[in-house]
This record gives sequence, structure tokens and C-alpha cells, in this order.
Amino acid sequence: MRRWVVYRGSKRSMEAETDIMILGGGCAGLSLALRLAEHGASCPSTTVIEARSKYVNDRTWCFWDDDSAKLRHLVTHRWSTVVIAHDMQKVTVDCQANPYAMIPAEAFYNYAKGGLAKTPRVTLALNERVIAEPQKEGGLWRVETNQGFHFAKWVIDTRPERLPEGGDAVLWQSFSGQEIECDAECFNPGVASLMDFSLSKSGRITFMYLLPFSTRRALIEATVFAPEPLGPEDLAGDLAAYIHRQVEGSTHVVLRSEHGVLPMGQWARAGRSDLSYVRVGVAAGGARSASGYAFQRIQGWADECAKALVAGGQPLGHAADPWIMRAMDALFLRVLRAQPGRAPELFLALFAHRDPRHIIRFMSDRAGPTDFAAIVFALPTWLFLREIPGLFHAFINTRKGRG
Ligand SMILES: Cc1cc2nc3c(=O)[nH]c(=O)nc-3n(C[C@H](O)[C@H](O)[C@H](O)COP(=O)(O)OP(=O)(O)OC[C@H]3O[C@@H](n4cnc5c(N)ncnc54)[C@H](O)[C@@H]3O)c2cc1C
Repeated sequence: MRRWVVYRGSKRSMEAETDIMILGGGCAGLSLALRLAEHGASCPSTTVIEARSKYVNDRTWCFWDDDSAKLRHLVTHRWSTVVIAHDMQKVTVDCQANPYAMIPAEAFYNYAKGGLAKTPRVTLALNERVIAEPQKEGGLWRVETNQGFHFAKWVIDTRPERLPEGGDAVLWQSFSGQEIECDAECFNPGVASLMDFSLSKSGRITFMYLLPFSTRRALIEATVFAPEPLGPEDLAGDLAAYIHRQVEGSTHVVLRSEHGVLPMGQWARAGRSDLSYVRVGVAAGGARSASGYAFQRIQGWADECAKALVAGGQPLGHAADPWIMRAMDALFLRVLRAQPGRAPELFLALFAHRDPRHIIRFMSDRAGPTDFAAIVFALPTWLFLREIPGLFHAFINTRKGRG
């Protein structure tokens, strides 16, 4: 496969070999490039185009750990106890069998860059931005960037198609957090707080998330599930109030901040009919509807997509979840959207189950029939039954192309 790179402002043109262009070198782009690089000499020639000029520790990736989780060697923290709290109620979950695990983004970025550097078959082009929609010309994709043009046979596009907008998802999960260091011992490093609804307001689902790294250092985030995406400025008041409460008058410094907006129950968009171009990543079905979590799902996709490409096949998009999972996620999101005030009660009920492995497997995409049954029985049935007609109606409209 031939690639042509034509550099802007230069009469020089260069001919090189490439098969695959990956647009965006974040979690999905680097994960795929890394898996391809692991194939050494049989790796198809690959170029990753990434807009940023350098990687910084811009996020933390958490998941429920078990033997099937990927990149476990990058985990820096694990919590065997997590809590969910609302007013005077608190559910403490012993999750020793599947601890809540965290990979700092910088650990992943460094590992991926190291893996890519081992083979000349993969090029990571930093500080290069795609500036126009790729077009197919003579059987090849022409990708225009601020540096010039690239031509490739396969394109895997991980860029978000557009900015988050109300109406593009059932709910948006917006969060804003700070990693802080206190001058006094304020945290219990053995217990992560997944959802503390104590700052909940009527009309929207607000909770706080606290990952303690030591007695003095923690990541604290304010999160809102709402029909509209929110910016860090919308969450700043709650975040400051909660941090103030946690540090109990001790002074603290902010080490870094992170912010995200993730779709929960994204409406399907028409993809390209040409199978040599796929859209993937969190904005293209990479995130789990009910939670917005995507890191382990993206790792699973990267494995499968790399295998297909190395075998000479087409790139793969994200596989659809099993119908029962999609139906349960859709119903759960409809209930949350219609009854935001009931959210604390619903999450407490889910985690209060005497065997928390059901909800952990459900959230980790590994649920079986007994897990689905346990979740259905843990929740107030009438609240869900009344949303079923609306869900059915939305499903019919989607099939008719009106969703
Ligand atoms: C702060 C934060 C915390 C998160 N925490 C978790 C978590 O705990 N667990 C979990 O499972 N998921 C989590 N997620 C969700 C998800 O795992 C991440 O969003 C993940 O990074 C998604 O990967 P991605 O490749 O789709 O997007 P990104 O990692 O954002 O990668 C997209 C890349 O495309 C590049 N790009 C965009 N436009 C262009 C362009 N025009 N040209 C070239 N490059 C371009 C961007 O610079 C970026 O590097 C979190 C997300 C955020 C934002």
C-alpha cells in the first residue's frame, strides 16, 4: 500500500508506505496503535495523527479489576472497599474480589509511546491536526492536516464528530475534579467513595466522587447526570463546597484538574457506508450507556480490531452490546431522566445487594442471566414498568428513522 505525504509550503513530495491512518491519538487511537505495534514485522504500516503536542496527566481511568481486565500492570491504586452514600444512608461494598482499580493517564500514554517507539512500522505524528473531512480518491482516503496530506487505505477515526449537545444522548455525564494534597490527614486511603449524593439538588442528579491515594492526597470530583452537557464552571460551586467539607479546615494545594463530558445512551447516527473508514472511541459507541465508562471496552475493541487488520481484514467498529444489556441500560436511563430525584435511592438499592458481584459484573459488561435477574429484583419494579411503553415507542421511532 502506498502513502503520499505532501508537505505544505514545500515543493517536496514524499512517497512512503502506509496502510492505516488513525485520526486522534488518545485512548482509542493509542490503544489500537499499540496492539498493532505488538505484531512487530507483520504490523501494517500505521500513522497516528494527534493534535496535541505532548501528553499530560489529563485523566484517570478506573474500572473493576479482574483477571480479564487489560493493562493491569499500569494500575497504580486499587480499593477493596467502596461506599455509596445519601443523607444518613450509606452502603459499604466489600469488593476485594474485584477491586476498583485506577490507571493514571500518564502511565498509559508513556507505556503506549514506549510501545510505538519499538517499531518503525508505526508513526505517532504529534502536533498535527486533521482539518477537513477525509475524502476517498482513487481507492485511497485523502486526509488533510495542518501539515499536509496523507493517503491511506484504512481510516480509523477516533475524533469526536462534534461537541456534546443536549439531544445527542439520553443523559450527559459531566464531571469536574481536582487532585489535592492537604497538610493534614483528611482521607482514608482504603475506601473510595463512588457516589456521595449529599449535595443533591432537586431536578438533577449530582454526586461527588472521591478517590483517596493517601491520607493527605485525593482526587475529588463533582458529577452531574443531566440532559444537557455542563462545563467545569457549572460544577465549580459543588466541587469547592465538597472539598471544603472534606479537608476540614486544613490547607491544601491543587495538584491538577480534570474535566469530562461523556454520553450516556447516545442516539445512533448514520455511519459511513464505506467499510474502509470507521468511527470509534467514546463518541462513537465506545462508552457503556449506563455508566459512560469506556477504558476497558476500548481495550477489548483495540485487541479485536488489531487482529482483524493484521489478518488483512477491514477495521472494526465497536460491537453492539447484547440486546438485554442495551434494553436494561435504556430503561435505567429513561427512569433516571424521568425521575432524577430517585437516583440516590436506585443506586443505593443496586449496591446494597448482598452479593455486589452482580452489579460489578453488570457494570463491567460481564453480566450473565443471574446478574440481570439480581439487578431487576433489586430495583423498584413499578418505577421501571411505567417507562416501558415510552421505551417501546422510542424504539419503534428509531426503527422508522425518526428517533
Ligand atoms: C477526565 C476523564 C476521566 C475519565 N475517566 C474514566 C474512567 O475512570 N473509566 C472509564 O472507563 N472511562 C473514563 N473516561 C471515559 C473514556 O475512557 C475517555 O474519555 C477516553 O479517553 C476515551 O478515549 P477516546 O480515544 O475516545 O478519546 P480521547 O482519549 O479523548 O482521544 C481523542 C483524541 O483525538 C484527538 N483529536 C481530536 N480532534 C483531532 C483532530 N482534528 N486532529 C487530530 N487529533 C484530534 C484529541 O487530541 C485526543 O487525543 C474518562 C474521560 C475523561 C475525559
